[in-house]
Amino acid sequence: MEFSLTVLGSSSALPTATRHPSAHVLNVNEKYYLIDCGEGTQMQLRKYRFRFQRIDHIFISHLHGDHYFGLVGLLTSMILLGRNKPLTIFAPADLEALIESQLEGIPAKHRFEVCYIPLDFTQPQIIHEDKRVTVQSFPVQHRVPTCGFIFREQPRLRNVRKPALVAYEIPLLAIPGIKAGKDYITPDGEVIPNDQLTVDPPNPRSFAYSADTQYLPELADMLREVDLLYHEATFGDDLLERAQKTRHTTARQAASLAKAAGVKQLVLGHFSARYKTLEKLEQEAKEEFAEAQLAVEGTTYSVALETFKK
Ligand SMILES: [Zn+2]
Ligand SMILES: [Zn+2]
Repeated sequence: MEFSLTVLGSSSALPTATRHPSAHVLNVNEKYYLIDCGEGTQMQLRKYRFRFQRIDHIFISHLHGDHYFGLVGLLTSMILLGRNKPLTIFAPADLEALIESQLEGIPAKHRFEVCYIPLDFTQPQIIHEDKRVTVQSFPVQHRVPTCGFIFREQPRLRNVRKPALVAYEIPLLAIPGIKAGKDYITPDGEVIPNDQLTVDPPNPRSFAYSADTQYLPELADMLREVDLLYHEATFGDDLLERAQKTRHTTARQAASLAKAAGVKQLVLGHFSARYKTLEKLEQEAKEEFAEAQLAVEGTTYSVALETFKK
């Protein structure tokens, strides 16, 4: 069961010859959640073979162009492809007018339903739930209202121990209840505790996306022990002052936050176009958190299922 992030764009406001504006695909069991949609996102989706129709939900962190200028192109291509199922976009409330004014000329008969859900910038909120994931938004601090997002897999049912089911002659009808955690009561009234019949399911996996933000050490609680964190790291130590002024984070600060939060994997991105090479940023990040990685476009960062045997 796939749970992975593919980075489509690792640059900040200005693109470079090798780095695109922000866009990321979270693949949960072959459903794609698109997180930010900078210019050229549809080309990157094509390049890395993500089918547009597997995207039903798009999350836009804030209304700086490097995070949403790709939407009109992507939506137009979805129309050309004959899409008729709805698409939900979670974004700052002003996005709807910005996008719809550009799609005005397209006849209604060709349009599919786009549902815009405004983000709340005052407090963390559960904004979406489906059979695969729950998504929580959380406000961060940038020059305009901005949210990050945490995606958590839905908990799985317990795994049954087949030999125990046979030994206790448990009827098929009782199995859904046992998977849900119930004890089994035999026809003689004997109670068989659930932990003799099942083992723990794998832990639900989690991914957090911390969008453009100033360094916020207090986010450690929100991000506690997520499996995979993508955090912006626009600058290195050399431009710490600029990071503070423009409300961005340095690679070192992002790595310190990841360490404090106890995250398992950290991927850094949203690099300033000033940096032709990124070795310095990588070195600074690794000094704080040895497992830190710098995003490479087209690379998929997977979270493995951890299974526990009793
Ligand atoms: Zn940005
Ligand atoms: Zn921004």
